[in-house]
This record gives sequence, C-alpha cells and structure tokens, in this order.
Amino acid sequence: MSHPQLSVVIPVYNEEQGLQVLFDRLYPALDALNTSYEIIFINDGSRDRSAAMLREQFNIRPDVTRVILLAGNFGQHMAILSGFANCRGERIVTLDADLQNPPEEIHKLLAKMDEGHDYVGGVRQQRQDVSWRRHASWAMNRLRERITHVVMSDQGCMLRAYSREIIHAINHSQEVNTFIPALAYTYARHPGEVGVAHEERAAGESKYSLYQLIRLNFDLVTGFSLVPLQMFSLIGVGLSILSAFFVVYLAIRRIFIGPEVDGVFTLFGIMFFLMGVMLFGIGLLGEYVGRIYQQVRQRPRYLIQTILSKDEAA
Ligand code: UDP
Ligand code: MG
Repeated sequence: MSHPQLSVVIPVYNEEQGLQVLFDRLYPALDALNTSYEIIFINDGSRDRSAAMLREQFNIRPDVTRVILLAGNFGQHMAILSGFANCRGERIVTLDADLQNPPEEIHKLLAKMDEGHDYVGGVRQQRQDVSWRRHASWAMNRLRERITHVVMSDQGCMLRAYSREIIHAINHSQEVNTFIPALAYTYARHPGEVGVAHEERAAGESKYSLYQLIRLNFDLVTGFSLVPLQMFSLIGVGLSILSAFFVVYLAIRRIFIGPEVDGVFTLFGIMFFLMGVMLFGIGLLGEYVGRIYQQVRQRPRYLIQTILSKDEAA
C-alpha cells in the first residue's frame, strides 16, 4: 500500500458515538471498490474515547489504516491538511466522520474523476440538516459565488475527491487559515460536481456553533477575495463625494438663511449611518489585518503527536 490508488482522509473530533458505525460501513464500501486504498484518520485533539478507538481500529486493519494523532484541536480544515501532507494515494477523498457523507457514495466521485476531472465536489441531495442551516448556507453559497470566483454548488459538503496534483499544490500553500474545498478549486483545472446522498448525523452533535459557522464564512470570503475591501473603498469614495456636496449645501444655507437648528435629528440620522458604515469598514479591515497577523507569526498550522502506521513502525 505504499502508493495506493485511493486515500480517504477523515478528521475526527469527539466522535466516539459514531466511530464504530463508521468503521462498519467504511471498510466494506472501500473493499467493494476493488482498488488499493488507505484510510487516514486524523484525531483532532478529541477529549473522548475517539483516539483510543482509532488506535484499536488501527490494530484491527493496520494494512490499510493510518492514524494521525494531533497534539490539540486545530480545527477540521487543519486536520485535513495534516492528512493531505501524509497521504500517498493517487486520488484523495475527504469525508466527515459523522456519516453525514455516506461512504457508499465514494464510487460516484471516482467515476466522475474517470471522466477527466481533477477535482470533484459532492453536492448534497436532500440535505439532512436543521432548516436554518440549510437556508443560511444557501444564502452564503450565493454570496460567496459573487465575491470570490469559487463556483461550488455546495461549499459545505466535505465529500470531495482531489487528484494528486491538487493535493500537491495544497501541501505547498502556506495559508494559516484556509477552507480546503475553495483552495482546491483555485488549483483545479477541470473541476466537476456530482450529487451525493446526505444522511443525518449518525450520533453525537455538530461541532459547529452558529458563531463558528459565521467565522468560517468570514474566513472563506476574506481568504479568497479582496472584493469586500475594494467594495468598501468604493462605498467610501461615494459617501465622501456625497458628504462634500452636503457640506457645501449646509455652508450655503448658513450664509444665505443663517444659523438654524431644525433638522438636527436628520443630521443625527445621517451621522449614525456614516458611523455604522465606518465601524463596519474598520471591522472588515480587522479581518484582513488579522489574517496577515496570523500569517506573519508563521506558527505551525498543526502539531502532530504520533502517526500510527505500519510502515513507520517497521
Ligand atoms: N471536526 C474536526 N475538528 C473540529 C471540528 C470538527 O476534526 O474542530 C470534524 C468532525 O469530527 C467531523 C467533521 O469535522 O468529522 C465535520 O464536523 P461536523 O459534522 O460537526 O460539522 P457539520 O456537519 O455540522 O458541518
Ligand atoms: Mg456533520
């Protein structure tokens, strides 16, 4: 298995309740593909029994299983990056550990790749998530599509297949905070999509709170586009021209009509509006400055504690 056809990369964070079911379905599904494969589990600093269960599973199927134990919780995308850096397959498929992406669907991605695509994104059919998440992610998908040049029908679906070349490019990207499906898209020459089934979470609960989802989307937009900043300078230019006219108008009134206090509240209204726009602008600048800050610190994106692998042990 030194260079298998397929690597399956799965980040795991506090998934003890669902892991066994995942093992029970994943291995038969991959065996049925009749290709050489390896499965790389990344334990993203779980505080439950996940790491122990992954160790056990490694002992059961050491021929096709590798486990990366990270030294802390670095987040789903960093965990996947550590898997990418350590996988050896010709094609790489990412999957969630919670069985929301059925492993039985992997063959669809591979078939699509056979048609010549170097990157295939899954599109969840009949998404099994709470409705506010479905609607929010629909809106975010549209917004993102307009301001970044990343065209994905379903940015949230992690069931995706990548060619070795794309993984190579990703491995050489130095971004600290990134969103892997979008990053891969920027490197893909011939991206494709295919519909995949979606299931309810097998067990446990979502690791993403509303706040984290908002953060993720900010990262996605600011990480892949300067349009928000540029739009903001446009708004700034527009507003300053308008307010210049306004000041001239007020000055003329002052000269010809004299001092007046009527309409003070209108003035306040205008001021509060401008202040809001300014605050938003400062916040937006902060998003980008924060990214630069993280980047210049050059801290490692993740820390590996151990890798369980047949080859390294030998
Ligand atoms: N995950 C991770 N680190 C984290 C959060 C999540 O490795 O800090 C993993 C998690 O175990 C799962 C996948 O990322 O395999 C997706 O997480 P989740 O199912 O909670 O996200 P959702 O489906 O709700 O978007
Ligand atoms: Mg999930």
